[in-house]
Amino acid sequence: MQILANDLKRQYDLHAAEYEAKALEVLRSGWYILGREVEAFEREWAAMVGAKYCVGLASGLDALWIAFRLLGVGAGDEVIVSANAYIACVMGITINGATPVFVEPDEYDNMDADKIEAAITPRTKAILAVHLYGQSCDMAKIMHIARAHGLKVVEDCAQSHGNHFDGRVVGSIGDIGCFSFYPTKGCGAFGDAGCLTTSDPDIADRARVFRNYGSRVRYQNEVVGANSRLDELQAGLLRVKLTHLEAFNAERCRLAARYDAELTNPCLQKPKIRPGADSSWHQYVVHLPGCRDAMAAYLKEKGIGTIIHYPIPPHMSQAYAYLGHKRGDFPLAERYADEVLSLPMYNGMTEDEQGYVIETINAFRA
Ligand SMILES: *Cc1c(COP(=O)(O)O)cnc(C)c1O
Repeated sequence: MQILANDLKRQYDLHAAEYEAKALEVLRSGWYILGREVEAFEREWAAMVGAKYCVGLASGLDALWIAFRLLGVGAGDEVIVSANAYIACVMGITINGATPVFVEPDEYDNMDADKIEAAITPRTKAILAVHLYGQSCDMAKIMHIARAHGLKVVEDCAQSHGNHFDGRVVGSIGDIGCFSFYPTKGCGAFGDAGCLTTSDPDIADRARVFRNYGSRVRYQNEVVGANSRLDELQAGLLRVKLTHLEAFNAERCRLAARYDAELTNPCLQKPKIRPGADSSWHQYVVHLPGCRDAMAAYLKEKGIGTIIHYPIPPHMSQAYAYLGHKRGDFPLAERYADEVLSLPMYNGMTEDEQGYVIETINAFRA
């Protein structure tokens, strides 16, 4: 049996006719940028998140750097971010000239909120709460600390479409929520796409102007903006995807529950879910201390694909050599990079396929 780590064709096949009908509708409409589909999607996505506004953008990275730009976070400022985050999270900070200050992850693979206060300096302007793997950061602690120190909070919800912390959907808790609709994300587009959510009318208004060359009225430019528009085709297709998001999340939740129940190999540590939160199970990430690479190689030999999210922590990346960090600065993040493995998990995964993955993993001997 050949099993991919993520098989997007399966999810497509579940509702192919709906995507194809919507694609043709948009193609035949004669209107391709900033129109009805984008407006409708923005309304629908804001409603799902529980924020007042959503502004469609071209990617998740754009959402991040535009969020920090709108919050006035730039050169000389520091932003606190988890040391095991995705590199794009850090780029969202540094594109504006700000400096990332890393905080170690907790046992839920997200920022350890108890370590934030020690990282605050007079230059700290914001906290970037990255909800990795479909889990949620401890937003209660993060918001409490941010309010006490006058910091802005940006949520990176690229991997967390529709999951909750304390009954609230992530992306509605901080000042701005940033979403990527890269094809592998929970509500994935058929190309690059993203958005930000906020309940602040001023931020929403400035984001709309910024994404379109800083222009509200054609050929009148208020600020130096960007071209970061969600297009009509992606917005239309995302509207179809959004109608299935709850079912997609529920299906991955069932897949996760089966992994939880049936994986018995003692060398593997299963994901822990933060009390008061749920997971949209963007990834099912296990820790394999001392045997991750051996397990991945063994599974590959058995026809099972896996992915490492992520093998190099941002502070060890060549791109961030200029920050001057060295191995040992964030030992937990470095250890996680050596032991995490994302198991196959996708909408449309069959019982037989998952059974084969489970049986194969349980038969592994380190
Ligand atoms: C995917 C992702 C991004 C970047 O999104 P793009 O749409 O690829 O630019 C940012 N942060 C996290 C956590 C992601 O998973």
